[in-house]
Amino acid sequence: MTEATSFDAVVIGAGFSGMYMLHRLRGLGLTARLYEAGGGVGGTWYWNRYPGARCDVESVEYCYSFSEELQRDWDWTERYPSQPEILRYAEHVADRFDLRRDMRFRTRVTRAAYDEAAARWRVETDRGDRVTARFVITAVGCLSDARIPGFPGAESFRGESYHTGRWPHEEVELAGKRVAVIGTGSSGIQVIPVLAELAAEVTVFQRTPNYTIPAWNRPLQPEYARWVKDNYADIRRRMRDSLFGIAASFNTGSALEASEQELREELEARWAHGGPGFLGAFADTAVDPRANELVAEFVREKIRQTVEDPRVAELLSPRDHPIGTKRPCFDTDYYATFNRPNVRLVDVRRTPIEEITAAGPRTAEATYEVDVIVYATGYDALTGALLAIDVTGAGGAALREKWAAGPRTYLGLMTAGFPNLFTITGPGSPSVLSNMFVSIEQHVDWIADCLRHLAESGATVIEADADAEDAWMRHVGEIAAATLFPRANSWYLGANIPGKPRVFMPYAGGVGTYRAACDEIAAKGYEGFVMS
Ligand code: FAD
Repeated sequence: MTEATSFDAVVIGAGFSGMYMLHRLRGLGLTARLYEAGGGVGGTWYWNRYPGARCDVESVEYCYSFSEELQRDWDWTERYPSQPEILRYAEHVADRFDLRRDMRFRTRVTRAAYDEAAARWRVETDRGDRVTARFVITAVGCLSDARIPGFPGAESFRGESYHTGRWPHEEVELAGKRVAVIGTGSSGIQVIPVLAELAAEVTVFQRTPNYTIPAWNRPLQPEYARWVKDNYADIRRRMRDSLFGIAASFNTGSALEASEQELREELEARWAHGGPGFLGAFADTAVDPRANELVAEFVREKIRQTVEDPRVAELLSPRDHPIGTKRPCFDTDYYATFNRPNVRLVDVRRTPIEEITAAGPRTAEATYEVDVIVYATGYDALTGALLAIDVTGAGGAALREKWAAGPRTYLGLMTAGFPNLFTITGPGSPSVLSNMFVSIEQHVDWIADCLRHLAESGATVIEADADAEDAWMRHVGEIAAATLFPRANSWYLGANIPGKPRVFMPYAGGVGTYRAACDEIAAKGYEGFVMS
C-alpha cells in the first residue's frame, strides 16, 4: 500500500499537545499525519531522562482531563510524578486511543510552505517525506530545543557530556565518577542532589542562584487519590479558572499589609506544604518589589538555616531578581546537598568558564578535572523549535523574518500572514507560566472547535488579522510590564540565548482570564480572524 501524501492536517510533535490534537482531529473526521523527531511519544518526558527528572505540578493535576474514563482508570503513585511514570502515562494514552498509527517517529519536519493558490501547506521532513495538508498544527514544545552555550573547546573534552534534555536512553554509569554540572535552573536543581548520591564528586557551576521551594514529594496516599477522583470536576474547574492552572489556593492578601506574625505563619505553612502553592502566599509579591522582597528574604533565611558554610549559603542566595520572576524551582534536598563533602560550588559569575579543556571546565582560577559534564543549560524557549522549521506563509514570507524582533501572534494561536497555521501553546499565550496540561487542552479544544466552525460555515481558510495581532501583542506587553517578570534575565525573555530579542513572550494574565478572552473571541464569530 502506498503511503498517503495528502491530509487535512499535519501535526508536528508527539508530546501531550500533539497527541491530544491528533485525537481531536480524528474526532472531527479529519485525516491527519503527525511527525515526531524523537523515537516515541511523550515529548519532554521522552527526552528528559536525567536522574531526578520530575514534574513540579502534582500528578493528579498534570494529566489530561478530556476523558473521564482515562482520568478514572489511571493511578499515579507519587505526589509529583517522575519522568518514567509520566512517560508510561503518555504511552498508555497513545495505546488507549490508538494514536501511533498516524504518527511517524524519528522524522523531523524541516520545512512548511504555504501554497496560496492551492490553499494548502507543503510539508517536508528530514527523511524525504513530501506531503500536503490544509492545516499545519505545531505542537513542537516550548522547551524542546535544548541549548548548550558555545564554550570554546567543548569538543576537546575527553570525558562524556550530556545535556539534561537529551539524556541517553541507556543507563549512564556515574558511580565513582567526578561530575561537573553546568547550570542551576529547574533541571540543575533536580539533577544535582541525585548526582551527589550517585557520583564520587559533583562540582556545580552556578551563574545565577535560584530560589527553590521544597517539593516534599511522597507516595500518593490512596485516600487522597480517591478523594481527587471523586472531586475531579470541581478541581478541574478551579484549575481552569486559576492564574497558573493549578488548584492550590492563591491568596488575594498583601504581604505589605500583613503583620510580621501573619507573614511568617503564612509562609511557614506554605513552605511546609511545599510546591508551587508557596508562591501564592500573597498577591502583591508578583507586582510590588517590596512585598516580593519579604518573601525572597524568607527563602534566603531558609538557605542560611540549611547550608552549614555561610559563604556557600550566601553564594546560593539569589539577590539579582525577584522571587517568581524566573521559572520557579521545586526540589528535594537541593540546598542540603551543598553540605555534602563530595559537592562543591563554583561561582561562574565571578570566574566565568573560559573554556572546556580535555580535562574539564577551566575558569580563570582553576581547571576542574572531571569525567562527566552535565549541561543543565536549558532551551531556546518558546520560539526555538518553531523557528528551527523553515516556515513560509502567504507570498513566501518567512516566519523567521517576521519574528526577527520577537514573536508576534494573535492569542498565541496564529500569526498574521500564515493562514491555517496553528501554534499550540505559542508565544503570547500563558504556556510556560502555567500547568501546561491546562494550557494544552485549552488550545487543542479551541483549535478543534475553530476547525469545526470553519467546516460548518463553509470556509476553508482562517488567518489572524494583523491589527488584532498588534492589539494582542500590546496587551501581552502591558500585562508583563505591570508585573515584576521583566526584572529578571530569564528565558521567558529570551535572555539565555545570545542575540535573541528581549521580549517577554508568554501571556502573564493567568489561564482563567486568557481562556475567557479566547472563548469570547470565538463566541463573537472569531473576532480578529479572517475567514474565507
Ligand atoms: P513537548 O513535550 O516539548 O513535545 C514537543 C515534541 O515536538 C518533542 O517531542 C519534539 O521532539 C517534537 N518536535 C519539535 N520540533 C519538531 C520538528 N520540527 N519535527 C518533528 N518533531 C518535532 N510543565 C509543567 O506544566 N509542569 C512541570 O513541572 C514541567 N516540568 C518540566 C520539566 C522539564 C525538564 C521540561 C523540559 C519541561 C517541563 N515542563 C513542565 C514543560 C513541558 O514541556 C510541558 O509540560 C509539556 O510536556 C509540553 O508538551 P508539548 O507536547 O507541548 O511539547
